[in-house]
Amino acid sequence: MSIRINKDKCVGCNKCIEICPGSLIYKNEVNKAYIKYEESCWGCTACLKECNVEAIEYYLGQDIGGQGAYMTVKEKNKNLIWKIYKDDEVFEITTNRVESNRY
Ligand code: SF4
Ligand code: SF4
Repeated sequence: MSIRINKDKCVGCNKCIEICPGSLIYKNEVNKAYIKYEESCWGCTACLKECNVEAIEYYLGQDIGGQGAYMTVKEKNKNLIWKIYKDDEVFEITTNRVESNRY
């Protein structure tokens, strides 16, 4: 599994459910999102980018050099603010949502 959903942060907005190309995310009886088919998630990060409250975390395993860190992302103006949590530290990376897709 590449992602996990923090139910304490989830506000039940449905955005991750609507965007997931594999229809892998559902909601429980108290309106919180959860990933139903964990093994089918291919880590495309679409749901992370849609979640405005940073409830979805992307696990950065050793296979991609993440050493157990995890990442969230939040949109702010035209930017995406990526936060990487490792042990007690938080690193931020900002990318321009419009410009970074031009090549
Ligand atoms: S996008 Fe975030 S807040 Fe909205 S349902 Fe999904 S996890 Fe919850
Ligand atoms: S990372 Fe992509 S495939 Fe996995 S749950 Fe999120 S939107 Fe679906």
